[in-house]
Amino acid sequence: MMTKSANKGEDIADGQQAITILGSTGSIGINTLDVVARHTGIYKVFALTANTKIDKLFEQCCLFLPKFAVIGNETLRINLAEKLANKGLDTEVLCGVDALEMVSAHEDTNTIVSAIVGAAGLLPTLAAVDSGKKVLIANKEPLVMCGDLILERAKKSGAVIIPMDSEHNAIFQCMPRNYLAGDTPPGVTKILLTGSGGPFRNISQEKLKFVTPEQACNHPNWSMGPKISVDSATMMNKGLELIEACHLFNLPHNKIKIVVHPQSIVHSMVEYEDGSVLAQLGNPDMRTPIAHALAWPDRISSGVENLDIFSMKELAFEKPDLEKFPCLGIARAAATLMGTAPAAMNAANELAVEAFLSGNIDFNKISETIDHVMTEHNVQHAGSLEEILEADKIARQSATTYLEGKSAKAG
Ligand code: NAD
Ligand code: MG
Repeated sequence: MMTKSANKGEDIADGQQAITILGSTGSIGINTLDVVARHTGIYKVFALTANTKIDKLFEQCCLFLPKFAVIGNETLRINLAEKLANKGLDTEVLCGVDALEMVSAHEDTNTIVSAIVGAAGLLPTLAAVDSGKKVLIANKEPLVMCGDLILERAKKSGAVIIPMDSEHNAIFQCMPRNYLAGDTPPGVTKILLTGSGGPFRNISQEKLKFVTPEQACNHPNWSMGPKISVDSATMMNKGLELIEACHLFNLPHNKIKIVVHPQSIVHSMVEYEDGSVLAQLGNPDMRTPIAHALAWPDRISSGVENLDIFSMKELAFEKPDLEKFPCLGIARAAATLMGTAPAAMNAANELAVEAFLSGNIDFNKISETIDHVMTEHNVQHAGSLEEILEADKIARQSATTYLEGKSAKAG
């Protein structure tokens, strides 16, 4: 029996949650389905979406039998629909942003996993938020662009937002009982946002210029998609996460300290006014924050091996190297300015990372491109979605012009 008020993680049918996974073929999407497959009595898949990976999406549809599948364009849509029909499956295949918004807002789904990479996830995430769903957010870029707006709209619709990014999920777990994302946490004096320092923590500044996309994507502790892997290598990931944390936990940037922790065992900490520091620990495997977010406020098994505390030789904590990783300073400045600054920074970063991954620019040019766009950007108050989208558009134009100049010179 289906209920028609599928909001806030309420049960849809006989105790099941009906899940939409935006970006199911990516690293987070695949890990989410791994956890879901362990608990088929609790979760059923309502919709799966991908941009271009048709074979992966086909395979996932065959296993999880969603009502809808959404793919990037019409040619792929026809292709996938044919493959599924030949298999005798009745999954309806759609394409485009409207379809992503539809499967995020549909009355027969109550839990949305936001795991598209980049600004492309913004509109479907907002559709889920506006429809009052339980929204599990891994896709940090929309929060960076307009976290205030997302949390404000969640309060209005009654949507429940659970952070899935491992650090923010850890912080969320260390918050007081009944804490909801977007509220100011009582008694909290500081957040200690940890990060491994990425694959180039021990490489000299001079050598950074010569690192390849392959080296940048080879993270020591985590296996992730290419964009976030490069973000980890420049440490822009920690910069994005700083802004993400400001919005999710309603704290000013100066209450959030970035701490390099090479072992990736402590996933972040929260300091309270009585001197207590609470931390969440675990093996570096995204299935832990994914399982926590899916089951919240309960707990379920995730498939992650338990932490063997006696095998840990050292837990080290260092200050980040701001000179070697200029993206941290750029992000801190954007967090100070807020308004449209984070959206512009995010847009410039997306284009610069793409250019680096395509072999068009050196690693060092990523931060130079963002820096250039930020000096050109005229920071405005970000009151509406339109203003954010306009800032995103202008920053993309500015980054494109700068990058064309750079690759023309390189060529
Ligand atoms: P990924 O590149 O592995 O997967 C991205 C997914 O988004 C794919 O399913 C892809 O088909 C889809 N997609 C890409 N562009 C799209 C577009 N234009 N329209 C619609 N769909 C599109 O990325 P990932 O590593 O899974 O990361 C996803 C998000 O989660 C990112 O925002 C990342 O920062 C965040 N995150 C990832 C991890 C991780 O361990 N991978 C950890 C924390 C946060
Ligand atoms: Mg993270």
